[in-house]
Amino acid sequence: TPPSGAPRPRLTFLGTGYLGATYAICFAELGYDVLGVDVDEPKISKLQAGAVPFHEPGLDDLLRRNIAAGRLRFTTDYREAAEFGDVHFICVGTPQRADGMGADLVYVESAVTSLVPHLTRKALLVGKSTVPVGTAEWIEQLVSKHAPAELGVEVAWSPEFLQEGHALEDVLRPNRLILGVKSQWAHDMLITAHKGVFDLAHNEDREVPVVVTDFATAELVKVAANAFLATKISFINAMAEVCDAAGADVTQLAKSIGYDARIGNKFLRAGIGFGGGCLPKDIRAFQARAQELGAGEALRFLHEVDLINQRSRGRVVQIASELLARPYGPAGPDFSGLNIAVLGAAFKPNSDDVRDSPALAIARSLARHGAQISIFDPQGMENAKRELPDMTYAPTLGDAVTGADLVCVLTEWEEFRYADPNALGDLVAAKLVIDGRNCLDQALWSAAGWTVRGLGRPSV
Ligand code: NAD
Repeated sequence: TPPSGAPRPRLTFLGTGYLGATYAICFAELGYDVLGVDVDEPKISKLQAGAVPFHEPGLDDLLRRNIAAGRLRFTTDYREAAEFGDVHFICVGTPQRADGMGADLVYVESAVTSLVPHLTRKALLVGKSTVPVGTAEWIEQLVSKHAPAELGVEVAWSPEFLQEGHALEDVLRPNRLILGVKSQWAHDMLITAHKGVFDLAHNEDREVPVVVTDFATAELVKVAANAFLATKISFINAMAEVCDAAGADVTQLAKSIGYDARIGNKFLRAGIGFGGGCLPKDIRAFQARAQELGAGEALRFLHEVDLINQRSRGRVVQIASELLARPYGPAGPDFSGLNIAVLGAAFKPNSDDVRDSPALAIARSLARHGAQISIFDPQGMENAKRELPDMTYAPTLGDAVTGADLVCVLTEWEEFRYADPNALGDLVAAKLVIDGRNCLDQALWSAAGWTVRGLGRPSV
């Protein structure tokens, strides 16, 4: 329970991308005075004008409401941030390094060293970005080097588990809070900074489990959770490969093993695998860090998890080659002269995020094999065009499939899952569909005359 009567600290969120902007907006909604800070001037102007620079259901309304209420502002000025905040959350990107392994901490370093020299009172820096274990200790060193020594500025670590497309709910009603702290003061400050979250839970008769721990454990919780989730997805995708070879159905297999509570039924949908700005880079960075610590052997399996994931993307090209009767030559199948509709660009539904998106990787690969590609995504088009400018983009689902020799469903948007196979059937050149997410009602599509191929399940 938070200390009663403690004044609410003022919060800054350093980095206003998917993580930081969502947090800034939600914590303003919880009643805090919030300042969002970013080095990206256009992004800050957009946010300050009331527009969320990415797609996240429900966020736009909250942004406008809280700006209007005067609780939420955005800036590029670190001096202002230092004057404003009592608790500063580090939410900047930690992308994969150019050498492919390890996380790049330049943005974390620049956020810390931009902020702390301007501090004029004691403050708490809280890491939320996903980082290699040991980063919090390193930030402490940066702080002691760059912050005015007499202030006693402290560091804490509270990793973040929000899922894009479900982010509001995850921030307002987190399923747990992990607090990596070294002092009672940091602990109390963090609890007070989350009082709004506890109050909401209390009003709704819920509990928010809190784990108070050391820096290293807090940092590891995040990468361990992502490693587990990636492993679960690659596990079921490996089963899909075996099901394909044996003529079995992975969807029934997943359902059957999922009834065992020790296994659970979530995250067991076989398909083209995981992508996005987190899982792929996080499992690689985790391996690199374990290697540095002399524990590389322990995480060797994550290399295999990554390989299974890459292979799952390749399965769509293989299945297309079978369905379209374009066999493998020395350079793979030749799809020239064929139109393929790619439904989906975002790495998951309810998001416009195309970072390391399996759908786009597959679109690129089909195009490399000569196919004429037409892509449609309900929200991810702008980002996809920036990522793959040479592709053809269709304004609607209907336009994308018109004249298609093959339709590939690669992101499980509801618009695709519940599309009318009869209506789409009238538009295509051939009723062939690859269900890369095993999300279509096969019986319905088959009744409408389609040949449906999922991953790890027999063709119908
Ligand atoms: P993002 O790329 O959307 O946002 C990062 C932001 O940081 C950008 O707006 C960038 O301009 C800004 N930035 C860079 N340098 C800065 C600086 N010196 N000062 C202020 N701002 C700066 O990334 P994201 O998806 O929001 O992820 C951020 C971190 O959170 C990553 O470590 C990621 O792994 C982690 N994370 C993300 C999610 C998610 O669902 N996106 C979930 C949990 C954790």
